[in-house]
Amino acid sequence: MKTCPKCGCEVDDEDQFCKFCGAPLTDLQSKQEIRQMEHVKIILMLILFLCIVLGCYYLWQGGH
Ligand SMILES: [Zn+2]
Repeated sequence: MKTCPKCGCEVDDEDQFCKFCGAPLTDLQSKQEIRQMEHVKIILMLILFLCIVLGCYYLWQGGH
């Protein structure tokens, strides 16, 4: 169960709109998904950065 962001009433997880006040319930969900996507992007950027640093290190080691 989740609660309506507008009126605070309990609504079903599958409901697209609040059955009490009619407020759309999909916005809250999509915002959470966007936040999760941002976290994934930050983690991927960190992994990519580590790969570049390690790649440069091994290239530098190989050159000497
Ligand atoms: Zn509501």
